Amino acid sequence: MGQGSPVYDVLVIGGGNAALCAALTAKEAGASVLMLESAPPEWRGGNSSHTRNLRCMHDAPQDVLVDAYSEEEYWQDLLKVTGGITNEKLARMVIRATSSCRDWMRKHGVNFQNPLSGTLHVARTNAFFMGGGKALVNAYYRSAQQLGVEIRYNAPVDSIELVDGKFVAARIGGERIEARACVMAAGGFESNREWLREAWGQNERGEWPADNFLIRGTKFNRGVLLRHMIDAGADVIGDPSQSHCVAIDARAPLYDGGICTRIDCVSLGIVVNNTAERFYDEGEDFWPKRYAIWGRLVAHQPNQIAYSIIDAKSVGNFMPPVFPGTQANSLSELASKLGLDVDTFTRTVSEYNAACRVGSFDHTVLDDCHTEGLDVPKTHWARPLDTAPYYGYALRPGITFTYLGLKVNEDAAVHFDGEPSENLFVAGEMMAGNVLGQGYTAGVGMSIGTVFGRIAGDRAAAAAKQHNMLKGGKRDVA
Ligand SMILES: Cc1cc2nc3c(=O)[nH]c(=O)nc-3n(C[C@H](O)[C@H](O)[C@H](O)COP(=O)(O)OP(=O)(O)OC[C@H]3O[C@@H](n4cnc5c(N)ncnc54)[C@H](O)[C@@H]3O)c2cc1C
Repeated sequence: MGQGSPVYDVLVIGGGNAALCAALTAKEAGASVLMLESAPPEWRGGNSSHTRNLRCMHDAPQDVLVDAYSEEEYWQDLLKVTGGITNEKLARMVIRATSSCRDWMRKHGVNFQNPLSGTLHVARTNAFFMGGGKALVNAYYRSAQQLGVEIRYNAPVDSIELVDGKFVAARIGGERIEARACVMAAGGFESNREWLREAWGQNERGEWPADNFLIRGTKFNRGVLLRHMIDAGADVIGDPSQSHCVAIDARAPLYDGGICTRIDCVSLGIVVNNTAERFYDEGEDFWPKRYAIWGRLVAHQPNQIAYSIIDAKSVGNFMPPVFPGTQANSLSELASKLGLDVDTFTRTVSEYNAACRVGSFDHTVLDDCHTEGLDVPKTHWARPLDTAPYYGYALRPGITFTYLGLKVNEDAAVHFDGEPSENLFVAGEMMAGNVLGQGYTAGVGMSIGTVFGRIAGDRAAAAAKQHNMLKGGKRDVA
């Protein structure tokens, strides 16, 4: 927009959950709002469109949530997964706000699903979106349009103009867009393959591991704005080499494979690398507590590939992957179909089979089926692979999101040398590292985005109002 273009109260950069929560809240507070989404309409919504639920505290059963999940229990869960790399004040703010945000979400069209039988464990802690994250994002866009939020697609912001830590304008190429306040909610940098390459570096085998990573979510989270802000001197939080990384089906697309590319049979069988050797205890703990370490484990194997192997006994005990596995009637046939050295593979399986001490197999508890005498033990659910047909699934590291972000206070303000900006705010994955410095517990990404998105939208609207008052109430845009 050139000279004479309208100046908005609040500019929101991004188009996922955090951006939408910010835009809706700023609009509700009476601000004029423009939202810039780098994706085209059909790909709008970022990683948020792949989600299923958000984690909510509640002291008693609440609509779709059973039992209770207290602030303290939620906080202890967060403390455990982050290993203490979290800001307690901000974390508790998020936790408390999740007890009441669902009414606001419903007001903007989000529906929640009644607890399903079989998901009781998460039905206590997590509220599931009816229709998943795609339906949530669509509902928010619909509500934003009805309320008069202006939305531009195909609008990737590449830089912003700052004066003494104050936001002045955003730039898309040669175009300049002014606003009185701004919320940045443009996700992490997980889809920027060059940046991932730089963060992961080269390994001792001369490989660049990140070249073999797949991205589970949107291709539009390239971290352009994050990099720009770091270069502009904004205070940063988090380790660039840390990311939430899951072992996923190697046949998944490079981007946007989403949740259906997960392979959930690791703890039922064994996993070998491309030299047909096992490398980690597949039965260390329950799969939901371990699935997020396997991406990194695979990333450290030669050529960043591994193979999850099961036999017929395990079929039916896990969520079936979207694509069928490689099937064979003998172990040697399976090895050759997977391109593994047949002798080494059959030796690895024979050694494992001989080491199994099978007690009472029960996948729902940490059972007593374990191995004895192996360098790489399997501590639970160890049963010989002896029943055809055998199945193999090739695995690759799948990045969910990165942890590097911008430092904030309880007002979601961006900081420069420890000083909060008056009118520049940040929400969602771009600042999630303040609360979630490492690790993950299901549903917390959407909790952080919803709570800080709303805070950022509210504070941005207030900053714009303040600006308008100082200027004598003159506004260029209706
Ligand atoms: C497969 C998958 C499943 C997940 N499941 C869950 C779950 O069930 N529960 C949960 O809590 N979390 C889940 N997560 C994590 C969750 O997606 C994130 O924590 C959350 O969506 C982050 O929201 P956000 O708004 O910050 O980012 P996103 O939703 O990723 O939105 C970022 C937006 O910014 C836009 N953008 C990027 N750069 C620019 C730019 N320069 N200019 C303009 N726009 C830009 C993008 O196009 C995108 O619209 C999942 C993630 C994945 C990948």
